[in-house]
Amino acid sequence: MRCIYCRARAGFIRKVCGVCTRVIAVVERSAGQVGWTELVDLFAAEGLSRGQVDRVLDAVSGDAPTIRDRLTSQMTNVLMRNLGMPGRQSPEDVRRVRLAMASGGGDGNWTMSEKSSETP
Ligand SMILES: [Zn+2]
Repeated sequence: MRCIYCRARAGFIRKVCGVCTRVIAVVERSAGQVGWTELVDLFAAEGLSRGQVDRVLDAVSGDAPTIRDRLTSQMTNVLMRNLGMPGRQSPEDVRRVRLAMASGGGDGNWTMSEKSSETP
């Protein structure tokens, strides 16, 4: 089998190679508790390079949000709650914003303008 993230050889039954498994482990251990800066430090402490981390975080599977989308939404929500606001940005919201920006549709006014998606 090849790794679903980086296409390296993962093993006979494994779908994720050793390096990507370590990236995921760091993400799962720290998700929602640290910001990007701390997360980058944690990856570095594990001996993981930026490239190794990025290809896991940005791996796209179908229409699902990427791991980076999920992390971004978690961090945004934590940040907003700390500011006393209801942090309810879903990974899907992050993905939509990312896709809109990638397609050149964003004029820089995307930040908090997606109020319509804020359903309790
Ligand atoms: Zn891999």
